[in-house]
Amino acid sequence: MVAKNEGTIMKKICVYCGKEATTRDHVPPKGFFREPFPANLKTVPACFDCNNGNSADEDYLRNVFAMSYEEGNISTEIAKDVWEQKVTRTIGKNKKFLNDISNSFKDINVFQDGKYLGKKASFKIEREKVEKAISKMIRGLYYIEYNSILDPSYEIRIFENIELSIFPQNVVNDVFSKPIKQFGEGVVRYRTTRAKEDPNFSIWVINFYNYRYMYFVCFSYAKDFLSLNKGEFGLPSVQNI
Ligand SMILES: [Zn+2]
Repeated sequence: MVAKNEGTIMKKICVYCGKEATTRDHVPPKGFFREPFPANLKTVPACFDCNNGNSADEDYLRNVFAMSYEEGNISTEIAKDVWEQKVTRTIGKNKKFLNDISNSFKDINVFQDGKYLGKKASFKIEREKVEKAISKMIRGLYYIEYNSILDPSYEIRIFENIELSIFPQNVVNDVFSKPIKQFGEGVVRYRTTRAKEDPNFSIWVINFYNYRYMYFVCFSYAKDFLSLNKGEFGLPSVQNI
C-alpha cells in the first residue's frame, strides 16, 4: 500500500505493523515451498523487523504440517520434498523440534463426517507459535486479497476446525461458499470473506499441505469487539457479510 506523505512523496507502509516498509516479504513464506516457487507467490511491503521477526514460528508451522502430509493427495510430493530439503538436512537445528514432537505423540480417535475412521498417531502442536505464524500470514494474505492493509489495531483470533461450532451458521456458510485460493498445489489453501460494514472484520479458513484433519478458522476483529460482545461471536455486521 502506498500512502501520501507531505504532498508528492509516497511512502510504503508495512502491512503487518503500519510502520514504514523498507523490504518486501514473501507471502506465504518461501520456506513452505520447493523450487521452482509457485508463480503466484507474492511479496508485500514490510519493515525489517516484521520481515525477519518470526521466521522461527513460520518454520515451526511449516515443519508440523510438512511432516503431517498424507499419502495420495496432490501436495504429498511437495510436503515430502520440503521435509527432506528444509528440515532433515538441517537436522541439528531441528533436533529440539523433533524431540518435542516425538515426546508428545499419542493416538487419537479420528472421525470424518461422523464416521469413526480409527486411531491415528497425533501430536500436540505448540499453539502460540502456530498462531503467531498464521496471524502474520493472514495480514499478508489480506493485503494480497483485498489490496489494502488490515488495520494493525485489529486482532486476529485463531481456532482449530474442531471449534467451528462456536461460529454462527451463516458466517460458516458464507466463508465456505467462497472460492478456494491456493499457493503451490495445496501447500497453502484458504477461503476468505469480510463484513460489508467493517472491511477489517474478516474471516479466513486456512489449511496447509492439504492436511484434511486440521484446518484453522481465523477472524480479524476490533480490539474492543469481544468485550463489547461479552466474549460471544455475534457482531451485528457479521450478519451482513
Ligand atoms: Zn512492520
